[in-house]
Amino acid sequence: MINAASYHQSMHVSESDLEPSAGNCPLCGDASRSPIALVQRGPDVTLLRCGRCHGASADRFPKQAVLDRYYAAYYAEENPIRNTEANVTLDKPERLAQRILEHYESEPSTRTVRILDFGGGDGTLSKALAQQLLSSCADAAHIRLCDYSAVPFRSDDGRLRVEVAEDLASVGEGPFDIAIASGILEHLCDPVPELQRMLSLLRPGGIFYARTPAVAEILRLTSRLGIDFDITFPGHVHDLGQAFWDGALCNLPLVGSFRLIRSTPSIVETTFDRNPARTVIAHLAKAPWWLLGRRYKMVGGWEVIVEKERGE
Ligand SMILES: [Zn+2]
Repeated sequence: MINAASYHQSMHVSESDLEPSAGNCPLCGDASRSPIALVQRGPDVTLLRCGRCHGASADRFPKQAVLDRYYAAYYAEENPIRNTEANVTLDKPERLAQRILEHYESEPSTRTVRILDFGGGDGTLSKALAQQLLSSCADAAHIRLCDYSAVPFRSDDGRLRVEVAEDLASVGEGPFDIAIASGILEHLCDPVPELQRMLSLLRPGGIFYARTPAVAEILRLTSRLGIDFDITFPGHVHDLGQAFWDGALCNLPLVGSFRLIRSTPSIVETTFDRNPARTVIAHLAKAPWWLLGRRYKMVGGWEVIVEKERGE
């Protein structure tokens, strides 16, 4: 079986552990949805594409108690999958930090950079961002880490402060210079309020980075070919590619003015020196997009950077 993300496991969800089929799109509320393919059989769960916001979501969500069990098991110390070489989220996170900071303008009036890291595990990416900012334009970096299993990284650098928040509601009022949601929105049954909150916590000129899976069209193709393709349901319940993100600022109710300043296939998670085979496959899968643009949809993952408008 091909696995969309080897660092997560799928789990068969029984009938009694599934919510009833949701009629409307859980992202934008629209009723026009069409099937892509099954993500689970017996009971069947289907990935549906919304005709309005173009996000894809499972037609049935797992009950909250099931998700709690799933993530508790996933984060358990003894989980053999989490603790293997294959459990790679991002080789060399400084590569991604550099990519994000290409789009970041520091605020001249403050030398303390504030970063909100939602779902970022131990904060590896936000730490890489902070370190690069401390070596260029910042005197201090404050990170608010908001994650299910947050045990923050250790730092000997007195300029770098990290605090853990249980959820986005308790991260305080901000504002933040940078907010990151890397590989988290697809896990949430109702991600739009969290997305809205993160954007609302940005300062004018601050940036938001998100990375999500975009495997729906790979699933459609493999399904037609009779090949099993695991999108790691119930961990992933949404699939958000280019069509969703390019329209998200118009299709979703947001407070404030925002600008999409980057919308591209996501960074290849692995590097040639650490995971050569996986890295070659990922580059090959994403490469056609740079020639064909949005006609090519099998990129595997998408990433965006959104800037909060500075106003007048
Ligand atoms: Zn929708």
